[in-house]
Amino acid sequence: MKFRNFKMVSYVVYGRGSFDQLDEILAPQRKGDAPMIFLLDHYFENGADTGNGKPLINRIPLRGKDKVIFADVTYEPKTTQVDKLAQQLKEEFGTISGVIGIGGGSVMDLAKAVALMMNNPGSSADYQGWDLVKVAGVYKAGIPTLSGTGAEVSRTTVLTGPTRKLGMNSDFTPFDQIVLDPELTSNAPANQRFYTGMDCYIHCIESLQGTFLNEFSKSYGEKALELCRDVFVKKNTWDADCDDKLMMASYAGGMSIAYSQVGVAHAVSYGLSYLLGTKHGIGNCIVMNHLEDYYPEAVVEFKHMVDKNKIDIPVGICKGLSDEQFDTMINISLGMKPLWENALGKDWETIMTREKLRALYEKL
Ligand code: NAD
Ligand code: ZN
Repeated sequence: MKFRNFKMVSYVVYGRGSFDQLDEILAPQRKGDAPMIFLLDHYFENGADTGNGKPLINRIPLRGKDKVIFADVTYEPKTTQVDKLAQQLKEEFGTISGVIGIGGGSVMDLAKAVALMMNNPGSSADYQGWDLVKVAGVYKAGIPTLSGTGAEVSRTTVLTGPTRKLGMNSDFTPFDQIVLDPELTSNAPANQRFYTGMDCYIHCIESLQGTFLNEFSKSYGEKALELCRDVFVKKNTWDADCDDKLMMASYAGGMSIAYSQVGVAHAVSYGLSYLLGTKHGIGNCIVMNHLEDYYPEAVVEFKHMVDKNKIDIPVGICKGLSDEQFDTMINISLGMKPLWENALGKDWETIMTREKLRALYEKL
């Protein structure tokens, strides 16, 4: 048995207002006059603030040739988008000091991937898989404005490529620095906050009920689950404490799956996302709504949280799809072997047959 020796984020700062320490944090990372590139979630393009009346864009510590690029995350990140951004930066600046991703999981993933592609040849599609990246990227920092994905701590960056939706999983992928400032999440709309927050809840359930579980994953997973429950089950109105807690839940949930794996909801939701472009958070919720056979108690709790927080979970999204389309989703999903093995054990292939998976997709 070989134990995973995993690379973690090098520096972490946590606290309300810690965003304003960014200038000081970046100063030692600047290489001559090579600029820092701030990839900013397009949500903040038109002066959106984070509940304090100060537009976030005005708080970015620009120096010299630094540049803000708005990241359009209407769709989840694609390899073509990453390649284009990296190419544009190489043409404009030659070298850069680093890439700072400020936004939800999509922007953080884009920032990681662009930082890697500044120093690796070819297309990001060549590196979709495990440990294919061989050269460190430029300095990269992640600053979440939504809590739940765990992208701030993970060793992957999920990209949709020409033939697959798969991350660039490598020891070079984790951020060098993350800035966890819960204030940045305070203005997120309730639905979005719930979908992304449920990504964390589902990470915990899949990790804690998976066959890969060990004490390391369990310790983080249990804490993250407790924080999710505080926020979505116990609280009646959203407040600053909820932002604080959910940001730490996301971090701990990410640490939990770093040493285990996700499970059925993720494996099925990847098929939806590949075929229909369904986004990660909402896709996981759509699937979780129908997973009574796999996570019975968690599904009851999930439905309670949906009702309590007055959230809409779409239904009927697979209505009218062709056999060929169902087959595409089934192929993508069954390709996620480690997820199924974690969820159902070594004999998962005899348990999750194509017919059973088709029946599940038909319910969504
Ligand atoms: P997201 O980043 O896709 O953003 C969703 C929407 O919220 C976007 O329209 C965005 O502009 C907006 N938004 C962001 N911050 C906001 C704020 N503070 N207020 C209002 N709106 C805001 O959503 P997400 O759920 O955070 O991330 C999903 C992405 O993360 C997917 O691309 C998924 O593949 C990826 N992901 C990555 C990992 C990983 O380990 N790398 C893990 C899970 C998910
Ligand atoms: Zn997830």
